[in-house]
Amino acid sequence: MKCTLLELPYAYNALAPIISKETIEYHHGKHHQTYVTNLNNLIAGTTFEEEDLETIVRKSDGGIYNNAAQIWNHNFYFLSLTPDKGTKPNDKLTKAIDDTWGSFEKFQTAFNQSAATLFGSGWAWLVKDVDGRLSIVNESNAGNPVTKGLTPLLTFDVWEHAYYIDYRNRRLDYISALWNLINWDKVNKRYEH
Ligand code: MN
Repeated sequence: MKCTLLELPYAYNALAPIISKETIEYHHGKHHQTYVTNLNNLIAGTTFEEEDLETIVRKSDGGIYNNAAQIWNHNFYFLSLTPDKGTKPNDKLTKAIDDTWGSFEKFQTAFNQSAATLFGSGWAWLVKDVDGRLSIVNESNAGNPVTKGLTPLLTFDVWEHAYYIDYRNRRLDYISALWNLINWDKVNKRYEH
């Protein structure tokens, strides 16, 4: 089906100063839009034209996969962020994190370490496997854990376009600040789904 650009549930300047209006203008308005335009051009006249985005991600490869997965990943990333303060992991998710890493702080440290050391462009993910076990996985480029049977709960985009305007080469500063924008209501729902 024809893919459309995700409409953000917040204004372009709503995440500032952690993520500036200029970054969102480029990240959503240009990078994300380009993946949407490219995918629609690539699937025109193919059987993928009839499929939903997640099915395309699961079934495709090459350029179609790269653009479809980047759209899926960016939809997921942008919807994981909120300017609203005060959401937090619920009791069930907190327990799962504590059981896996010992504490929320230790989980954050492990996630930051994983995201900061991902070589090149990619995505750091918190995922749940079929048995409900949590783990942190890195994916390069357009990689998406749903292709491995994992359920994504949270992702940090660590492509340079996600942070270079605001943080230049300081990826860890971007990652550390991003925790202040996480929409835990969303992550809680994904965990319970
Ligand atoms: Mn991005």
